[in-house]
Amino acid sequence: MEENVLRAARASMYEEIPDAVVLWDLEGRLMSANAATEMLSGYTRSEMNGTRIIDYVLRSDVERIVRAVRTIATGRTDSFSAHMRHRDGRTVPIECKAFPARAPDGTVAGVFTRLRDVVELRAAEEQVTLNQRAIEEQSERIRRLFLTAASRGESNEQQIDNVLRLGLELFGFDCAYISRFDGERVVIRNVAGDAGGSLFPGAIFRAETALSRHVRENSTLSIPDFDAPEWKDESANAHGVWRAFFAAQLVVGKGPFGALIFASRKPRSARLDARDSDLIGLMALFVASVIERIAADERIRELAFTDALTGLPNRVLWADRSALAVATAKRYGQGFAVMYIDIDLFKSVNDAFGHHVGDEFLRAAAARLRSTLRESDTLARFGGDEFVILQTMVSKPSDASDLARKVTAAMQRPIQAAGREFTIRLSIGIALYPADSTDVETLMQLADEALYLAKARGRNRWCFAGEERKDPSRDGSAVPSLPEVAE
Ligand code: GH3
Ligand code: MG
Repeated sequence: MEENVLRAARASMYEEIPDAVVLWDLEGRLMSANAATEMLSGYTRSEMNGTRIIDYVLRSDVERIVRAVRTIATGRTDSFSAHMRHRDGRTVPIECKAFPARAPDGTVAGVFTRLRDVVELRAAEEQVTLNQRAIEEQSERIRRLFLTAASRGESNEQQIDNVLRLGLELFGFDCAYISRFDGERVVIRNVAGDAGGSLFPGAIFRAETALSRHVRENSTLSIPDFDAPEWKDESANAHGVWRAFFAAQLVVGKGPFGALIFASRKPRSARLDARDSDLIGLMALFVASVIERIAADERIRELAFTDALTGLPNRVLWADRSALAVATAKRYGQGFAVMYIDIDLFKSVNDAFGHHVGDEFLRAAAARLRSTLRESDTLARFGGDEFVILQTMVSKPSDASDLARKVTAAMQRPIQAAGREFTIRLSIGIALYPADSTDVETLMQLADEALYLAKARGRNRWCFAGEERKDPSRDGSAVPSLPEVAE
């Protein structure tokens, strides 16, 4: 390449290189600039020529630039950041690399500087920092939720309450609550924070509100402002003091159980972002699993204390109730009766119609028996066709025989089982506290013996403990008969 061509090529390289390149003298005056400098600054080269370089940057950058010029004057290079004041008023962050411009004799005559616009780079860096911070924040929030979730030695209900409180703290709502769908109704189960008077455990709302309908069908619902046009049609919903809601569905077992809801008195500026709703989703999962655990515990208790066929208390629960009756009797001087009941000739039902019909017969008999008793009385099934009544508030034998008569009379109406009608006959043995004994075991035994006597005397009657030593005409006799299919 010839010398003149080479010189022109060098000049065009300076002119067309995409970075801004400027030449200043050692006083900081602009001597020359390439085309990219016009793009970066918004000024033309003729406007800039001869002007001071420090007029194009922020005041805070001036000192650093003066230092750079001094460094270059000694023949070294320098790199620094600065801020270009663009003609349109923007401040453009720039990265500068400065190096000496030498005269033919080798002395430093000026400063060459390459300027790079780093707006996008800085924005990207900022975004990375923001993302990083958000990730750290979210993992801290998740860590706190898991610490709450994993807290040992706290009751299930306490754990639910802790989650609600954590949610209030993290999301800045006024109130957090758990609702349970119950057919046409929604029942408030737990409440934390400022409940505004209308929300309390046990409070009942109509299920046909916008909130419930949505949460029944969707996993989450975000309402930044309940008075916004999109919710205006829901004016039928008395939302009271609450303006903003966030709800997450609680799935317990197979279906929607209810919702975890955060509410605030003021409208919120925006919907919750994805991270917030993810976290609330996680909270809902956790609350649902605690509720599931509570239900499982209840089921286990139920199985332990009730008879599977009839749902009546079993022997275990009966023992508990009878111990309580003894304690109450001792304290308040109130007697009670133990009535041992056995269905007469029940085997014939099984034999004639099968075990399945026998089971239904037992269930119907249990329901009929239960319906004749007071709330304070206990009816337990001891297995087979044996039932026991713990009759409270018994001060004389006639209180017990009145109930025995009532029970027998209630059996006069036929019962329905497996599409058939049956008439039930019972034999009853009665023992009284404290007249017959003050010990439950002994009372049970005496009642059982009295039952045996009732059976021996022809069934369909009641007998009191110790009655075999007395006149048989005192028992509650009735005409014995087979359980029969009513026509
Ligand atoms: P009694 O008048 O002497 O009481 O005669 P009974 O036929 O009622 O005889 P008993 O009370 O001694 O027997 C009750 C029968 O109930 C024995 C058993 O075959 C039946 N049984 C026990 N448990 C169940 C049950 O869970 N379901 C059904 N269907 N039958 C049961
Ligand atoms: Mg029987």
